[in-house]
Amino acid sequence: MSLLIKTLVLLLLPAEKYSAAFLENHILVRGTAQTSEFKTQVQFYANYYGLENLTIVLVFDQDLPENVNGYTLFERIDSLGVQNAYIRIQSRLDFSQQQIVLAHEMVHVQQYYLGKLIHHAHHHYTWQGKSIANIKKIAYTERAWEQEAFTWEKKLWWAYLQSQEKPENLANAYKPSFSE
Ligand SMILES: [Zn+2]
Repeated sequence: MSLLIKTLVLLLLPAEKYSAAFLENHILVRGTAQTSEFKTQVQFYANYYGLENLTIVLVFDQDLPENVNGYTLFERIDSLGVQNAYIRIQSRLDFSQQQIVLAHEMVHVQQYYLGKLIHHAHHHYTWQGKSIANIKKIAYTERAWEQEAFTWEKKLWWAYLQSQEKPENLANAYKPSFSE
């Protein structure tokens, strides 16, 4: 739902229906000293994309596969009305890089949430209605969902920094990296 439509709906709804119409997200952050900072960032990106009623677990961990800086798993259980996003980020990255990887992963959360990207099993995905039996046959940088994430990661982070008025954070050098 676009922000405009959401705002209009908000204005039209009686107050007692507000909480039922817009369900908040549950955000857990583990493995970092910056827990509240990252929780704020996750909520910012969730609001940016209009994501609701999600449980988002963000874990910082050293033990990710080699050359992987982050990845996202998404679980949707329609019968229970449950949607869970599980994000892992390499804890050895510096703070700026961790934030950019988070923005990247939140693009993937949005893709899964909207059903643009669906993970079926193993390497089988669907992207915008097109079944991809084996994504290993597509080079990482050629995958449309990765291109979208790389296009948006720094724009989203910049939007977050502006919202927090911390543009000096952008002075930190950023090295391109791989995330899934
Ligand atoms: Zn990615």
